[in-house]
Amino acid sequence: MKSKSPGLNTICTHTGQLEDKVYKGAISPLYMSSSYAYEDVDVKRYPRYFNTPNQEGLAVKLAALEHCEAALIFGSGMAAISHTMLAFLKQGDHVVVQKTIYGGAFNFMVEEFPKYGIEYDFTDGFSEDDFRSKIKANTKVIYIETPSNPLMQITDLQMISKLAKEHGLVSVIDNTFASPVNQIPADFGIDVVIHSATKYLGGHSDLCAGAVAASEEHIKRIWNVGKNLGGSLSDYTVWLLERSVKTLGVRVKAHNRNAKKIARWLNEHDLVAKVHYPGLKSHPDHKLAKQQMKGYTGMMSFELIPGLDAELFMRSLSMIKQSMSLAGVESTILSPAKTSHALLSPEERNRQGISDGLLRFSVGIEDRKDIIADLEQAFEIVGKSQLENQAI
Ligand SMILES: *Cc1c(COP(=O)(O)O)cnc(C)c1O
Repeated sequence: MKSKSPGLNTICTHTGQLEDKVYKGAISPLYMSSSYAYEDVDVKRYPRYFNTPNQEGLAVKLAALEHCEAALIFGSGMAAISHTMLAFLKQGDHVVVQKTIYGGAFNFMVEEFPKYGIEYDFTDGFSEDDFRSKIKANTKVIYIETPSNPLMQITDLQMISKLAKEHGLVSVIDNTFASPVNQIPADFGIDVVIHSATKYLGGHSDLCAGAVAASEEHIKRIWNVGKNLGGSLSDYTVWLLERSVKTLGVRVKAHNRNAKKIARWLNEHDLVAKVHYPGLKSHPDHKLAKQQMKGYTGMMSFELIPGLDAELFMRSLSMIKQSMSLAGVESTILSPAKTSHALLSPEERNRQGISDGLLRFSVGIEDRKDIIADLEQAFEIVGKSQLENQAI
């Protein structure tokens, strides 16, 4: 019954929790056993079968958060992605992949699919035509990621789900950037929802994990591949992740609030050429984002005006650290041209809209005034340095 379904923060706090029947402790007991009885039991439990008590408990919580029937927890976001793709694609099949996706997922497809005889095509853009025109007779899966990294482009969930149903395809989304707090793809008819739990679900930059949520039927197919590929997560980390997810709702809403205000502040800054944040009215996909997202995440990217030294800007920050990963409670920043997209040629980077002055910013939950003060003092340093260079 809909009216009886618990709210987001109640699911985060309670759903799937294991009962400590012996000591009546307040939290899920941690069962580290890798060996369980097989006689006179209903379930043959084994960590690689994704069915230890802690794995099952957290899976119930994540499925509830994503409005799906079932879920599986993986050793990393990439394990979740690779297991899922190999569950729905076999030799001779084809997958339509959104133009820009997470670098690791891109590498997985480009490097591994040829070995399995799996074909793929990347779209030229984000529109219905861009996806439709790539569908072939042997297409089985559509793979998307929205908002995209690092330009925060938005793909229309309803459009993808309709297109997939029309052609009998499985629609798969990487929902890492949004988190279930901001976007519930299953409500729009998307079939399979993937997370790098290393990011918002974990949220404290201290664990690596992945998750997939879908219907019982789809999860069964992924499980069948999972028991062979062996990508499950250690129960200790499952238990840590359960603790993290308890605060997912409050954390992500704090990220959202900070990022929205900081995006507006950056947008008005003289030394900023452009801010990519779907919560800004000036974002080309703002309307679409508003239709399918409840909040706009703590992720954004922005470009300094031409001539400013982006490296110097990042080095001049003091509280905000340069970091490869994202979505922790602390604010971090990264240069895509120097890291995630460094292997692309300057022309290809240019084509994808990744300028040398582009910075990806993961806004944390610190006090907003302190984040802004740190940014402002770094702007002053790069601004001054540019003036000095011009004088010479
Ligand atoms: C980090 C990330 C992944 C990969 O997750 P890992 O946990 O590092 O394997 C996949 N998708 C997105 C959007 C990510 O940010």
